Amino acid sequence: MKGFIFITVLLLLSTVSFTHVSATLEGGSGGGGGCTYIHYEDATDWADNIQYKLHNNTYEERIESARDLWNAKSPVVISEDTIWTAIDLDFYDEYLTGATYAAYYNYDEGDNPEIVFNIVNMLTLNGTARDNVVRHEIGHAVGLHHHYISGNIMYYAVSLQVDFGSTDDLCYATRW
Ligand SMILES: [Zn+2]
Repeated sequence: MKGFIFITVLLLLSTVSFTHVSATLEGGSGGGGGCTYIHYEDATDWADNIQYKLHNNTYEERIESARDLWNAKSPVVISEDTIWTAIDLDFYDEYLTGATYAAYYNYDEGDNPEIVFNIVNMLTLNGTARDNVVRHEIGHAVGLHHHYISGNIMYYAVSLQVDFGSTDDLCYATRW
């Protein structure tokens, strides 16, 4: 499905081990250092000033923490929607047994992008990994695609990475 990007997990034994299963990639401009980008063409419309709205969301504090982390970079500003702004990004929870993903970012032309957390699988993660998931998905919202360089938030699989790595820095700076 176009615009559907999953960050997925498989549990191995009872340890915190995660394996990426699949990612349906949306086309984007390639960049250096393994960077690719999503919904690049719409960037001037909304992606440099993102107002989000929480819907029945369990992870408000983690979202706010992730927002502040990404806002430390310039120029994209992420803030909560007000009556004076238009919503650019929706957060939802879902409870889906049998699915392998902890969260996904969904972007379709003509509709608000959304980040959806699958609580069933999020609950199998420790707090650090949950922060990793939230920060990773918001990275998609600012237009970054995931990649395969570990030690970065935008690494394709769930990890315990909660700070930017050098490839995160490179991709963001190249994108913006
Ligand atoms: Zn991803």
